[in-house]
Amino acid sequence: MIKVAKFGGSSVADAEQFKKVKGIVESDPDRRFVVVSASGKRFSGDNKITDLLLLVNAHIQYHVDCSTLLKEIEQRYVDIADELGLKYPIAQKFEEFSSMIQSLSPKYVVSRGEWFTGQLMAEYLGMPFLDAQDVIIFHHDGKVDMQRTQMRLRDAVQRLGHFVMPGFYGATVDGVVKLFDRGGGDISGAILARCIDANLYENWTDVSGFLSADPRVVDNPRTIHRITFDEMRELSYMGASVLQEDSIFPVREVGIPIQIKNTNRPQDEGTIIRETAEEGRREHLLTGIAGKKDFMSVHIQKAHMSNKVGIIRKALSVFENYGISVEHVPTGVDSFGVVVNGSDVKDNIYSIVNDLQKELKPDSVNVVDQLALISVVGRNMSRRAGTSGRVFGVLGNAGINIRMITQSSQEISIIMGVNNSDFERAIKCIYDNFVDTEMVDIPHQQ
Ligand code: ASP
Repeated sequence: MIKVAKFGGSSVADAEQFKKVKGIVESDPDRRFVVVSASGKRFSGDNKITDLLLLVNAHIQYHVDCSTLLKEIEQRYVDIADELGLKYPIAQKFEEFSSMIQSLSPKYVVSRGEWFTGQLMAEYLGMPFLDAQDVIIFHHDGKVDMQRTQMRLRDAVQRLGHFVMPGFYGATVDGVVKLFDRGGGDISGAILARCIDANLYENWTDVSGFLSADPRVVDNPRTIHRITFDEMRELSYMGASVLQEDSIFPVREVGIPIQIKNTNRPQDEGTIIRETAEEGRREHLLTGIAGKKDFMSVHIQKAHMSNKVGIIRKALSVFENYGISVEHVPTGVDSFGVVVNGSDVKDNIYSIVNDLQKELKPDSVNVVDQLALISVVGRNMSRRAGTSGRVFGVLGNAGINIRMITQSSQEISIIMGVNNSDFERAIKCIYDNFVDTEMVDIPHQQ
């Protein structure tokens, strides 16, 4: 069995966290391939090393002295090395890096956050250090060269047997360092898991998995123990995010499950994300609920619209001209709505309405703002008829007006629009009535 264990910034923030990582890695001999982020926040209000390095770049760009900042970063590493009694000459190496800083590329500078963390972790775990620059290979267009990367990672597995690899960066074939997007250590771990045919990709962080609702809205929401990739996409899209979005694809394509675990509470079950989750057991009817406020719906009405061709296309191209991404298009017979993010359109709404009037010659265009979208997600919803009706009924009884409804095509989510002012109440109401309590029996798969 091969497990790739990726530890996020808060899991490697200081010597205490390093000790927890060692305990976790050593408790399971299958955990032979470790990926680390740069040391993150030790307490709220603290700085992540990556943010400090970005600040170093800004100082250099504007010719401002950054020696104090570099000292601050160095001290974080020195403290870890001292407390753990490591031999790696961290102060000397960091000073060499600092003395060359003016001549280094900004991406290279930022990548040193994971590089130094990786060096310390490798010694502490007694594993070889594998530089991501030598194995995660990018095409010049910024995409990962999977074929080359796979060859190099497999070779490293053969040669070394186990290793610690820093996340978040790689390099082009000619050795120019490139970074993934922020939070991209998750992507490095996923690529490693995929390339070496891991059985499981463990993502160790500071929460015990995905929560079934936002804890700022619902008190103590239950943790989702099993979720499918599609359900997770639906919930993350509405803001319930634990993993870097792009990290899902490399493992999903080859059927490797992801397990979210808490470095501070390794005994907790966490969340397992896989393609299908049913296993012949009793499961929750709804997996989770998430939502966001401040959407806007532009409602267009035109008599006999249903007989005409191209009306919706014309409306959508108006939004496209303003570079606005459309979230939903609920349709009626002679009317439809275009639901967009309020902050994306607020500066242009008058010109957009004007353009819609010119292009479509509608009977009316109305703008409804202060709209909140709530997504009720559950792979098991399709197993029980009438779920959406009951969800709407519960909201109706609570006096909450539903302003828009759409259902995803695979029936794993129902998205409802309510007034911003009803948002919290609607979520609590659905959570209390369904998410926490209602169960279904899942038959064994054939
Ligand atoms: N250190 C990088 C960041 O803060 C990448 C990561 O932590 O995954 O975004």
